[in-house]
Amino acid sequence: MIGSAFNYSQKTISLYIHYPFCKRLCPYCDFFKVQYSKDLERVYIDGLKKEFEVYNELILRNYNTATIYVGGGSPSIASPEFFNFLEFLNSKLNLCDKPEFTIELNPEDINDNLILRLANSPINRLSIGVQSLDEDVLKFLSREVNLKTFKNNFEKLNKIIENISFDILYGFPEKLSENHIKNFSNIKDFNLKHVSLYFLTIYEGTAFYKRFQEVSHLLNDDEIYKKYLKFIEQLNVLNFKHYEVSNFAKPGYESQHNLQYWLFHNYLGLGPSASSKIFSAHWKNYNDLNTYHSSLENGNLSVAGFEMLTHKQLVFERLFLFLRLRRKVNKIWLNDLTGTNPERLKQFYIDLKRNNLIEDYGEVFELTDKGLMVSEEVFLRYLK
Ligand code: SF4
Repeated sequence: MIGSAFNYSQKTISLYIHYPFCKRLCPYCDFFKVQYSKDLERVYIDGLKKEFEVYNELILRNYNTATIYVGGGSPSIASPEFFNFLEFLNSKLNLCDKPEFTIELNPEDINDNLILRLANSPINRLSIGVQSLDEDVLKFLSREVNLKTFKNNFEKLNKIIENISFDILYGFPEKLSENHIKNFSNIKDFNLKHVSLYFLTIYEGTAFYKRFQEVSHLLNDDEIYKKYLKFIEQLNVLNFKHYEVSNFAKPGYESQHNLQYWLFHNYLGLGPSASSKIFSAHWKNYNDLNTYHSSLENGNLSVAGFEMLTHKQLVFERLFLFLRLRRKVNKIWLNDLTGTNPERLKQFYIDLKRNNLIEDYGEVFELTDKGLMVSEEVFLRYLK
């Protein structure tokens, strides 16, 4: 129930570490990343150690860390020094019981060395950016993955870490979509606990936008929805529960780290471009490796922007994130929190139900698959 969203323990925190390097820069990606170089990585790790020391003293030592998430970039290409740092950090934190420790992997980077490194690390969850199980789609994305080799590597990984998630993209040109959806059914051959399904966002003016247009038109909302449903149908058959707009999990395997964000708990981000939120304070690091490092070198934190959220912003943000989750929402509770007139909302709930956006159970409602896809719009209409 929604009320539980705000009954969180104020003693716990989540930690995000941004690793900003990739071997190649993919044309469709808008995360902060730079081309890998050993020298730049050394500079980055130096900054990261300094940043961790400061925040450990200021914040982390007062909390129990519930989850750690290493994202990027491509942390799967990181050097042994970076993995040593992760171990060091893990040993310094006050960890909750059974902390979740996730790292993102790029399938192209998985090899025996990496598997050995992971086996000797505290990492217990993997998020693999597979994107597709169709060779043509992977070529379209300029990914150099051999699916057969990947499957073998997956089996080896799965022997040491059972909690594995795949990122899958959808919304490819029509010509590629059919086989992408068909081959997605091979997901049953992987012992997965979690799947994240993301829409391929294409930014106008990019080289990738041109490449996309050569093979297709941009999809309209109806086309996108139909494709999204085809994935959901397959995931339902495999017993994955659709628990958030883009996320599906086997029972008990929801991403604990992402739940911390959606439930608006405290989190701290380390590394360039990382964001942090502690109660109503919100800040973001510089999106630039040199500025990130030089600020820390000069004894400052690498903060590019800082704000204190007002009560209204806090309520708005909390609900906005919470309505991404598929949970039963108590209408009275929602009205009290937002100060909305219940009479005005009667017709609103009727319209949502008529459009198959919610299941209405009287005192509570829950977003449907369709409602989850447009949860932002539902939320904004609620507050009008
Ligand atoms: S490897 Fe991942 S993070 Fe790096 S550019 Fe490609 S999609 Fe972005």
